[in-house]
Amino acid sequence: MKLDATDLRYITSEEFRVLTAVEMGSKNHEVVPTVLIVQISGLRNGGVNKILGSLAKRNLVARVQNSRYDGYRLTYGGLDYLAMRALSKRDSMYSVGNQIGVGKESDIYIVADAEGNEMVLKLHRLGRVSFRAIKEKRDYMGKRKSASWMYMSRLSAQKEWAFMKVLHEHGFPIPKPIDQARHCILMEFIDAYPLRQVSSLPSPGVLYSNLMDVIVRFARAGLIHGDFNEFNILIRRDTGEAIVIDFPQMVSTSHVNAEWYFNRDVECIRTFFRRRFQYESNLYPRFRSTMKEESEDGEGFRLDVVVAASGFKKSDQQVLEEYMNAVREQNEERAGSENDESEEEESEEEEEAGDQSEEEPAAINERETKDIANSVAGPSSSTSRPEA
Ligand code: ADP
Ligand code: MG
Repeated sequence: MKLDATDLRYITSEEFRVLTAVEMGSKNHEVVPTVLIVQISGLRNGGVNKILGSLAKRNLVARVQNSRYDGYRLTYGGLDYLAMRALSKRDSMYSVGNQIGVGKESDIYIVADAEGNEMVLKLHRLGRVSFRAIKEKRDYMGKRKSASWMYMSRLSAQKEWAFMKVLHEHGFPIPKPIDQARHCILMEFIDAYPLRQVSSLPSPGVLYSNLMDVIVRFARAGLIHGDFNEFNILIRRDTGEAIVIDFPQMVSTSHVNAEWYFNRDVECIRTFFRRRFQYESNLYPRFRSTMKEESEDGEGFRLDVVVAASGFKKSDQQVLEEYMNAVREQNEERAGSENDESEEEESEEEEEAGDQSEEEPAAINERETKDIANSVAGPSSSTSRPEA
């Protein structure tokens, strides 16, 4: 798939209709029957088949032959395309540049608006990890199970967006959120390096207390980052200011495990500073006293409440949280067994791959995203702009 804005603008309206029909059909079907695509799109049968063929060539949909009926599924590429088209239609973004990050659960691109201002596009990719373990635990996805990767990725983006908006409005040191569509977030590009790349600091204590202050500020506003570590803290190149990113796992200080999450964030920073800078301090925030101070000074604006009121539903948060916990547990189990029984692990993995393809034909673990990388990884480091 070619991930550039020329392509986004020059898809025909019929192609767009068919692609959207596949997306709509995905809500209830793992593989969307071709007859249903025809029905939803409202176009002629023969025409739809031809268009599906050309969409499949561009990796926006994939034909699934080993199923009981003839059908297609939306690929990551197709979902990316629809999201970027939406963003480009409302003039939020104009062109796509290089990929700057591949996380476990996201891809990060540099993009630009029509004036050439650089921004960051974060594409959420939940579901790269096998859903098998999660499904075994609980069937909480209900009917939507059929499009779990799409649904989860979108939820994750919606949650991150809701939190970023509120945090930015309240002056927290985070990138400015710009727009959101489907599983994507558009945000300010921070010219920075991640804290993990910093090998030495003249006075680590300054940054240390600055970061602990951020944790405390979050908590006083009713929030815990939940993944506050050297990967999610960026140091601005010009000012050295610390900017926090990555919010899909944020929790409220009213969460039953709030104290545990809080302590983990604090410990991540303490451990990193000890190992990297040989810096250790007896001063670090404690959950209870932080929360007590919060209620005493009576300032008490609760951003967790603001977010809850902003339209990101509590039930959605729960679904996402259960998913994330299940993935984490699965990763931990894997890491554990990789350490002591790597041989067994191999055969288990094979088995798993087999199971998976039966249950969810190629919806998971697949890297259509490679195509994105190939198509945008040009020689230039800036964004490529199509002819107008
Ligand atoms: P993940 O959930 O996959 O960890 P992150 O939001 O942490 O995704 O982003 C992954 C990486 O991409 C970060 O470690 C950082 O290097 C880069 N990145 C993310 N957002 C920005 C941004 N707004 N500006 C600059 N770099 C960013
Ligand atoms: Mg991260």
